[in-house]
Amino acid sequence: MSSENSPADDENSSADDARQVWDVVVVGAGPAGASAAYAAAVTGRRVLLLEKAELPRYKTCGGGIIGPSRDALPPGFELPFRDRVHAVTFSNNGRFTRTRRSRQMLFGLINRPEFDHQLVEHAQKAGAELRTGVTVQRVEQHGSAVPDRRTVAVVLQGGETLLARAVVGADGSASRIGAHVGVKLDQVDLGLEAEIPVPETVAEDWKGRVLIDWGPMPGSYGWVFPKGDTLTVGVISARGEGAATKRYLEDFIGRLGLAGFEPSISSGHLTRCRADDSPLSRGRVVVCGDAAGLLEPWTREGISFALRSGRLAGEWAVRISEAHDAVDARRQALNYAFAIKAGLGVEMSVGKRLLTLFERRPGLFHAALTGVRPAWRAFTDITRGRTTLGELIRSHPMAQRALSAVDRRQAATAEPVAEESGS
Ligand SMILES: Cc1cc2nc3c(=O)[nH]c(=O)nc-3n(C[C@H](O)[C@H](O)[C@H](O)COP(=O)(O)OP(=O)(O)OC[C@H]3O[C@@H](n4cnc5c(N)ncnc54)[C@H](O)[C@@H]3O)c2cc1C
Repeated sequence: MSSENSPADDENSSADDARQVWDVVVVGAGPAGASAAYAAAVTGRRVLLLEKAELPRYKTCGGGIIGPSRDALPPGFELPFRDRVHAVTFSNNGRFTRTRRSRQMLFGLINRPEFDHQLVEHAQKAGAELRTGVTVQRVEQHGSAVPDRRTVAVVLQGGETLLARAVVGADGSASRIGAHVGVKLDQVDLGLEAEIPVPETVAEDWKGRVLIDWGPMPGSYGWVFPKGDTLTVGVISARGEGAATKRYLEDFIGRLGLAGFEPSISSGHLTRCRADDSPLSRGRVVVCGDAAGLLEPWTREGISFALRSGRLAGEWAVRISEAHDAVDARRQALNYAFAIKAGLGVEMSVGKRLLTLFERRPGLFHAALTGVRPAWRAFTDITRGRTTLGELIRSHPMAQRALSAVDRRQAATAEPVAEESGS
């Protein structure tokens, strides 16, 4: 707690000690939760980070760390890179393969269990307390479990109840806290991945190089991300096409000559993008990362979104924890929502428009990235963190015009449906 507490604050904090009221409880210890816990803990508040798994835990993910992820890490954090990418091989559903190279590193690759655990350790060093192996069942902001209007009850599986002045929901794409807040989704995708240990000769062939394949279903794509002696091979596509997505992964692995190697892990996970009008808070509860549906809709890059939104959530949760009434808490929560929408929201809306174009014309993206120098430069500037999708579109009138044309086309195809439902 702050050393500048007023006598009233001191009274509150000693009462809080007796009832064990945390300033901030964070649910979920992925990048969003660890980042939120760190941001809240460095302010000296009492922060509890709850995680249902034991750490380190596996997470289905390519582990691609682009510039914005690197830039959102806490000070002093050393990225545990398994490889540094200097070349990208692009293919269009297995055809028209072309490799582009760069002398400078484009982005890095990490193993999620290691990376996430290190982030949590950073939050702990900043003062956050960690409890693993505990599943949060629900949060309550009214009713008998809640002693007063400044407190949220966090109910664990098994019945134990914890109390907090503010709660951050960072519990991933099947978020219970997101359901409490009423998060609305616009896009849900299914990612399938295999971790494939390979012999040294194969690993050497992939060292420093990733492969990105534009897939057979609209909006789908696949990747090979090398991590030393293991290749992370995955595909992603709209949810609801499970069999086709599985077939795409099998074909992809077969085509690459990797079918003979037994995966050490095969898994799947959903990614979700929020609707524009989806809430980011309810009362004293805010959501971030996958739990809030914060993810780049085209690439489904989510680590930087989790780190950036997590940090903001942690910072604003501290202010919510200090709010003396519902109006003040709401004001702070709205400030959080504003900060998210002004930054990540803009990037999401550009990503969404790019996805629409990509769904229709994957060949155009392939031709641009493999054959048009400014398109490749834009790709490298984004992966290195020199610019963002939003900034890029703002500064390129041609790109703005192309996306406006997509918007017009989409509006034109949407109109008859609107007329039908209105009649
Ligand atoms: C196949 C695939 C590949 C991807 N590749 C990339 C990539 O290369 N680069 C990139 O930037 N993004 C990638 N993403 C997206 C990225 O993985 C996510 O956006 C990111 O993990 C979001 O972080 P998070 O902290 O919000 O959620 P998570 O990482 O999912 O963490 C949530 C945590 O909450 C815990 N939890 C859940 N429920 C409860 C509960 N009730 N109580 C307590 N704890 C709970 C979970 O155990 C988990 O540890 C990929 C996604 C998929 C599916």
